[in-house]
Amino acid sequence: MILYNSLGQTKQEFIPHTEGKVNMYTCGPTVYHYAHIGNLRTYIMEDVLEKYLRFAGYDVKRVMNITDVGHLSSDADTGEDKMLKGAKREHKTVMEIAKFYTDAFFSDCKKLNIKMPDVVEPATNCIDEFIHMVSVLLEKGYAYIAGGNVYFDTSKLDNYYVFGNMNEDDLAVGVRDSVEEDSNKRNKADFVLWFTKSKFDSQELKWESPWGVGYPGWHIECSAISCKHNGEYLDIHCGGIDNAFPHHTNEIAQSEAYLGHKWCKYWFHVLHLNDARGKMSKSKGDFLTVSLLESKGYNPLVYRLFCLQSHYRKPLTFSYDSLDNAAIAYDKLIKRISALNPEGEPDTEAAKPYLKEFNDALGNDLNTSLGLTAVYSVLKADISDATKLYLIGEFDKVLSLDLTKAQESKTDSFANEEVEALIAQRTEARKNKDWATADAIRDKLKEMKVVVEDTKDGIKWHFEN
Ligand code: AMP
Ligand code: ZN
Repeated sequence: MILYNSLGQTKQEFIPHTEGKVNMYTCGPTVYHYAHIGNLRTYIMEDVLEKYLRFAGYDVKRVMNITDVGHLSSDADTGEDKMLKGAKREHKTVMEIAKFYTDAFFSDCKKLNIKMPDVVEPATNCIDEFIHMVSVLLEKGYAYIAGGNVYFDTSKLDNYYVFGNMNEDDLAVGVRDSVEEDSNKRNKADFVLWFTKSKFDSQELKWESPWGVGYPGWHIECSAISCKHNGEYLDIHCGGIDNAFPHHTNEIAQSEAYLGHKWCKYWFHVLHLNDARGKMSKSKGDFLTVSLLESKGYNPLVYRLFCLQSHYRKPLTFSYDSLDNAAIAYDKLIKRISALNPEGEPDTEAAKPYLKEFNDALGNDLNTSLGLTAVYSVLKADISDATKLYLIGEFDKVLSLDLTKAQESKTDSFANEEVEALIAQRTEARKNKDWATADAIRDKLKEMKVVVEDTKDGIKWHFEN
């Protein structure tokens, strides 16, 4: 696979540390509010990446954190903790807020066919790991204590700005809300590893630490959670482009200082979803959610299709007009696929060029729009319907648009009708004392893995589990 790597800013051949295995880490949501569809664009594209890697034969382990502490209003370590802000807004405890919005996040993911990562770890579960990492950084001289907080000393690194000449706007994101300078910092770029002194005394969640009662910085979460579950070598780290600086830059600084070697090989960043006013953000308050789209009558998978129609490395502008176009395209596509005749065996030889077309598209820096073109190539192709369905089923392992679902329920309803008819014939044969026919039908039903039960309410049946 060829993948664009933000580290180096080039397309590179993907070679994991261990042949055949991929360690993947995703920055999870900050669970103080619903995810907006911009956040979910990032999770959809990461889901496609994970599924394509699996499709290509890799054994993938994907880890994701849940940020339930430490993410302040500004990514530059200033302002109030976002979780506390959410708790105050809703007059709940931070943990209640975390639970509610974590569940809401996974419910949105389910609607969008985003697979659950193999490991999901809330930051509040890993305080010991954070304390350990911060202690090692202090011991190694990469960190210092000032004004009660522990800071990472960026001047100890030869190259802190690892992502190089990133877009000015992206670099500005990290400090956009910064209203005050932290005078404890030795260098402007230094960042907090552990807070004990916060301007906001009412911080709800605090833990004992060698540096006093406090709470972790946001960046240390991802480094420690990744090392805990993915080990010392990470193959792919994902996130939205706003995470590249300072969050991912700081993750690299502290992880590599802690480990003493290079940590993650490939950095996958998804560009933003914008609306007419610019970048969609949770803090703006008025934002688009999956539930809102549903309430307007859209199938969430139409939004998934909308995302797949464009490349993850291009900003995407949301409008209801473009979503309507995606809805029309989705309907037409599903109708064409539902009209295919599922009978017969697929011709795997005839399928090969189409599998190659799909592989070439996704394998080239995850070109999902060309992947969708491959679906249309199959529909137009001079191959049997069964082969078409086989191919579309294969592509849908990555696209996850439920492309063959209507076919499956059609097949199910054919099967149900057949079973009902056989049971009626068997009842009739028994009534006529035609035991030979009744037995033959019983055997046939058994072959079809149908379990028939005579109950006081009549005959009931189901397929064997
Ligand atoms: P958060 O819940 O704020 O920590 O963000 C969750 C994920 O969504 C992160 O990977 C962000 O980089 C990403 N993200 C935030 N805003 C957008 C946006 N407008 N479009 C795409 N991804 C975004
Ligand atoms: Zn992160």
